[in-house]
Amino acid sequence: MPARDTAPPSITCVMPAYNEAANLPHVVPHVLEALLALSPQVELLIVDDGSRDGTADVVRELCRSHPQCVLLELSRNFGKEAAISAGLEQARGDVTVIMDADGQHPTDLLPDMLRHWQAGADMVYAVRTSRDDQRGLHIGLIGWFYRLVNWRSRVQIPPNAGDFRWMDRTVVAALNALPERNRFMKGLYAWVGYRTVALPYQPLDRHSGVTRFNWHSSLQLGLAGMMSFSTLPLRLMTVSGLLLAFFSLLYGLWIVLDVLIGGKDVPGFATIATAVMFFSGVQLLSIGLLAEYVGRIYDEVKRRPLFIVRERVGQGLDPDHDPA
Ligand code: UDP
Ligand code: MG
Repeated sequence: MPARDTAPPSITCVMPAYNEAANLPHVVPHVLEALLALSPQVELLIVDDGSRDGTADVVRELCRSHPQCVLLELSRNFGKEAAISAGLEQARGDVTVIMDADGQHPTDLLPDMLRHWQAGADMVYAVRTSRDDQRGLHIGLIGWFYRLVNWRSRVQIPPNAGDFRWMDRTVVAALNALPERNRFMKGLYAWVGYRTVALPYQPLDRHSGVTRFNWHSSLQLGLAGMMSFSTLPLRLMTVSGLLLAFFSLLYGLWIVLDVLIGGKDVPGFATIATAVMFFSGVQLLSIGLLAEYVGRIYDEVKRRPLFIVRERVGQGLDPDHDPA
């Protein structure tokens, strides 16, 4: 990898925040201190994702005491993926780093990320070494999810990698150029490619509050990821259709031979009823899967914006500054 200039890059930090009023007064100064140790040119874009606990006011207050802070207030809750997209769209730094607003992403990793970037990496992402916050079955399902989406796929999505990552401005530009509405960020990072380095890390505890991601939202995100990065479910439908048709044919032949050669009466109701119910089930399932894809196509063709920024407060990095 060709090494980069050792001059400190200007840094944008994108921080999605949903009901983080209690965390931000601790997290923001801590993160800013860590960033300013790396470069004098820093902006911290805090994206208020339609919080209901006065997060925006807390950020406004922080903007007054910390000139590097910028508030992007979205018009409602659009979800973490959209909030990140909103931040990336306004990022002006030579590099952009995405961090959670709850203090779970250790700032100790930032100097290492900078070092890898200077050594030539375009994207440095943090990989969780443990998932103490999730229980056995959940971890198992997540494992299966990655096995399925990555199966025979050209784009390999690394498991246990989150949004905590450091990206060169070229990567940010590539992400911003992606037109899709269904944003499964973990997949998009992998999709754009570039020279990537993984760094292991141990997530810290949330400063306060609880995670917003539960079974329901995990499932939702998993489905979104599966549908936008894989057509494997569609192929499974085709294959199971073929197999079922083949075995039904064999079974049919066997019944005919049994009657003609064995001279048996055609046995009755139970087999037919089971078969009809089973195949209706398979058909409904297939139609449902198909409908999931169609629904997503519908979302895409509506071409609604991913998010709406209600207000921007703060200067941030100089828009005319010419990135080296
Ligand atoms: N978040 C957001 N919009 C949402 C939900 C979460 O911007 O609708 C932010 C949240 O404020 C935090 C980050 O996304 O900064 C990660 O959320 P959380 O800590 O709940 O998830 P976890 O760390 O458990 O993955
Ligand atoms: Mg968190």
